[in-house]
Amino acid sequence: MKKNLILICIDGGRVDRAKNSSIIQNFGKEHSVFFSQSIPYAPYTNSALYALISGSYGNRTGCYSYWHSHKFNHVKFKTIIDYLHENNFYTCADVPSDLIMPRRNFDEYYVSDESNINLKTHHYKLLCKMKKLVDSKQNFFLHLHYSGIHEGIRDSVLKSFTNFSDEYFKNRKQNEERYDRLFTDAEKYLEYIQQKLDELNLWENSIIIIFSDHGMSLGEKFGERAYGALCYESTINTFYSYFSSDLKHNEITSQVRSVDFMPTILEHLEIKLDTNFEPLDGVSLLPLINNQNPKENFAYTETGNPLNSKMPPKKPNTKSIRTSEWKLIVNEHNNTKELYDLKHDSLEENNLINTGLEIENILWKEFLKIQERSIIN
Ligand SMILES: [Zn+2]
Repeated sequence: MKKNLILICIDGGRVDRAKNSSIIQNFGKEHSVFFSQSIPYAPYTNSALYALISGSYGNRTGCYSYWHSHKFNHVKFKTIIDYLHENNFYTCADVPSDLIMPRRNFDEYYVSDESNINLKTHHYKLLCKMKKLVDSKQNFFLHLHYSGIHEGIRDSVLKSFTNFSDEYFKNRKQNEERYDRLFTDAEKYLEYIQQKLDELNLWENSIIIIFSDHGMSLGEKFGERAYGALCYESTINTFYSYFSSDLKHNEITSQVRSVDFMPTILEHLEIKLDTNFEPLDGVSLLPLINNQNPKENFAYTETGNPLNSKMPPKKPNTKSIRTSEWKLIVNEHNNTKELYDLKHDSLEENNLINTGLEIENILWKEFLKIQERSIIN
């Protein structure tokens, strides 16, 4: 029998908090690989998750804005749900909105909100159900979504401030404390899930991945009170903790992309990519996990900055391309660029654009290649 797959998304989980979290660091510790520099295609949920499940950037699949979930091209791109379902996995998801994951090929699909359901007990019930399937020799895929951070920020930040509220950006300490309270709740949720995975004995037979879809701004950069407006580190750097009993504990600090996880999981499960579909943007991380030091790939991110509008735009207008050490940001809405030396300037305060650095040209060329493949016009 193949291993089962459990994805647990901590929506809006910051990588700095995850690195310091003993609960996350000890989650399946002996057999988990922690990725501390994973870059999403988009710093907001729906496009981030569609890119994850398809291993491909939204500017090729069609899901490139808040408005484009239903435009995902299922004819050309196969999702991990499609693959697993076809391989006789029972597929089940619980998500806070049906915009963030297609219903296609899910045997069971729930839309739950923390405000009307207790996620812990609901997810426990789903885990029990999966356990029964395992006992009857049936593989499963389960996606669990912890939306508590997202909902807390929505109620206390998104509704009270705009991306340009001085009051928000002046109160960094308050922002940090508010976020940390929400993050602690997420940790309690994970602690509970961990106990249930022990109780149901699901570790040995499953790949279990805890990850965040995007980060969360705490007022680092004026113009973004939460996420989705800009391409700075606070929102485009995320974490993945990849557990499987056949892996040895490790931390991978070099850059990977969220689009790399779908091909990684498929290779791990020995499921071949279907060549009738478009090639992926992601590559399997198994060589990296197995210390084979493959060359690093460029990570591409784009988002629609709403600027002074209440709604995000229909096309991305703020884009970035990144290596472990450098990032080029292209602000198409005002025709400016920024270049940062992430290694020596992690707060991205010293813009090195037009200072004659060779890396600027290298990143710009890669940026243009990605634009050429884009279906957005
Ligand atoms: Zn999210």
